[in-house]
Amino acid sequence: MLFFSFDQAVYDTGYCMSIYIGNHVSTSDGCEAMGVHEQELGGTTFAFFTRNPRGGQAKNVPQDDMDRLQAFLLEHHFGKLVAHAPYTMNLCSAKPGVREFAETVFREDLAKMERLPGHFFNFHPGSHVGQGAEEGIRIIADVLNRTMKPDQQTTVLLETMAGKGTEIGRTFEELREIIDRVDPALQPKLGVTLDTCHVWDGGYDIVQDLDGVLQKFDDVIGLDRLYAVHLNDSKNPLGSHKDRHEKLGEGCIGKPALARIIRHPALQGRPFILETPNEDSGYRDEIAWVKTQMTDEMTGTTA
Ligand code: FE
Ligand code: FE
Ligand code: ZN
Repeated sequence: MLFFSFDQAVYDTGYCMSIYIGNHVSTSDGCEAMGVHEQELGGTTFAFFTRNPRGGQAKNVPQDDMDRLQAFLLEHHFGKLVAHAPYTMNLCSAKPGVREFAETVFREDLAKMERLPGHFFNFHPGSHVGQGAEEGIRIIADVLNRTMKPDQQTTVLLETMAGKGTEIGRTFEELREIIDRVDPALQPKLGVTLDTCHVWDGGYDIVQDLDGVLQKFDDVIGLDRLYAVHLNDSKNPLGSHKDRHEKLGEGCIGKPALARIIRHPALQGRPFILETPNEDSGYRDEIAWVKTQMTDEMTGTTA
């Protein structure tokens, strides 16, 4: 385990708050512009779609723009970025044509990420659409075995899901099964994103029992495979399987619980991405709030 042991006295005052925070930004003005824009919002990481979220053709991004973004991130001490595959990409569709297209999208977008080396490529594992979770898990792992390379510089992240419809990834066990079916030589390049809205909607009580949920994650998957957090409130109650994100503090998770997540020793060092229903001004406020939580911890104030 890299960051945390539950045997330690976790709330002693000695540790340093060090999460990165940011939001989804538009790719419409190019790569370097995303970094500049995020810095204006106060962020230290960000997410972007590897192509239009509804799928379709990928835009060709010039290498020099990607290189300028990398230099910008280094200069301004940004954390790793968390790129997101299109929502519509279903690697385990029941229709062979849809499945093949999804695999092409995954392969192409992973190749694009390799031109911006060292970051994360997050995707929704998929929906089994009646084939059964076991079959879906097998198909997803097969795609990863065909498309990933042991020497790739991008880490691929499976996102925890709310369990809407036939989504795979509503339990930590399902994600563990995907990882177990991937070639051990590829596993160092595979991890998990914890989405706070999704795990809550999936039935994990991060409000009343955050330590218990993270312990469960550690037991089933391992916290050393947890590379990123999607920080969202939820419009719906625990276990609703709905997946409707809400602004921080305006949903069923609420600010005190979100503050405990931001400050949790097991989650330090990761990029935290806001996927809340906001415009720029809302993201600026949420980023500032997250930073305040980190500062309060260091000065000993409690939420
Ligand atoms: Fe997502
Ligand atoms: Fe998410
Ligand atoms: Zn979601």
